[in-house]
Amino acid sequence: MTTPKPVGRRLYESACQVIPGGVNSGTRYVGEPYSLAGAQGAYVTDADGARYLDYHAAFGAMLLGHNAPEVNGAVARSLDGVDLVGVGVGETEIEMARLVVELIPSAEMMIAAMSGSEATAQAIRLARAVTARPLIIKFQGCYHGWHDSVARNVISPAGRAYGRDPLSAGILDDALDSTLIAEFNDLGSVQALFEAHPERIAAVILEPIPHNVGALLPTQEFVEGLRSLTRKEGALLVFDEVITGFRHALGGYQQVCGVRPDLTSFGKAMGNGFPVAGLAGRRDLMERFDFDGGDVLLAGTFNGHPVSAAAAIATMTYLRDHPDFYTRTHTLGERMRLGLAGIADELGVAATVSGFGGVFVLYFASAPTLGYRDLLRNDNAAYLTFHRRMTDAGFLMLPMALKRNHVSGAHTEDDVERTLEAAHDVLKGML
Ligand code: PLP
Repeated sequence: MTTPKPVGRRLYESACQVIPGGVNSGTRYVGEPYSLAGAQGAYVTDADGARYLDYHAAFGAMLLGHNAPEVNGAVARSLDGVDLVGVGVGETEIEMARLVVELIPSAEMMIAAMSGSEATAQAIRLARAVTARPLIIKFQGCYHGWHDSVARNVISPAGRAYGRDPLSAGILDDALDSTLIAEFNDLGSVQALFEAHPERIAAVILEPIPHNVGALLPTQEFVEGLRSLTRKEGALLVFDEVITGFRHALGGYQQVCGVRPDLTSFGKAMGNGFPVAGLAGRRDLMERFDFDGGDVLLAGTFNGHPVSAAAAIATMTYLRDHPDFYTRTHTLGERMRLGLAGIADELGVAATVSGFGGVFVLYFASAPTLGYRDLLRNDNAAYLTFHRRMTDAGFLMLPMALKRNHVSGAHTEDDVERTLEAAHDVLKGML
């Protein structure tokens, strides 16, 4: 740690008295007592006054930049209206759903949620209801939230990868055994599970780009293969676009790859930092949530909250009306990836750069990274050192194994060039 953090330390110590571990989500603890006190555009400032160019982006929830005036203005205006009454439906909820149906290629109807975990939980329950089958397939390395069906096998060490690797105690064995683990970009591993469990698999759920382990890029053959395999086997295909949604394209990664899933979960960037998420999909499936005639429970006190809906509408409208947003962030992301690859090459560092759009990651492994198996070769210690030293130099990158970095709408070319200069110094210092 280059800068002492006396204020952060004091806050962290008082947090530990009343919040277990001192943070409200495990991955927010990064080995040092960070406490962020300010955020504007592409920058955040900590309670001790240090300023960082932010590539963490609140795990990808910030897309337009911090405190984007378009979004915050809409949220402020929403406070003058109805707050929360709990009967019927508000105009903003309808507008939010209309925009989702307009923008996401496979969306015919949408239900609102407050977090990505709720959205994926609903997807899985709906899939089980529709197919009357118990099992689901997820991929080693993908994260879909904290609930029992999916909280397993994300960043697993070699000995536990593909085996039983829960993220938490307290999950019933039945829940763990109902989730089968396949290898990303390996259609054969999915096929084998369908063969081993005939007519028992309700859905295949995936992050179309598994950003929870950096950025494994799907082959076109793989996503198309999943589409035809699930159709043939009578299972649903669920794209979890909680990270890729709105970030990589207005219509998410499904717009990029041209494959239409049956269901799509989204959240994070959708409200540019405000809590909002949802599940969308085929009308005949989504209608199972209809309280009058359907049979799948749709409930949640805060679903479609006016503040969340206002943030989502403002974010989606901004993105729709500024198509250059994607050209800009993709160009900056590409410049970052090429720059990092060039530096690694020049310095002889055994590294592989990956990413998509504005997302970039520097794996400390010299081979291609298509599946999780390839990531077992990543030098996690070097990865952590790189992110930690970049952060110390003023470029906030999450110092946890395999975490990705995000370019937002507020980053500039100059920011990227400065980041590359810093990366050069950091990598050189690691030789
Ligand atoms: N799905 C993906 C792909 C995620 O990355 C996350 C969170 O990181 C979730 C679902 C869960 O979302 P939330 O943390 O909003 O519950």
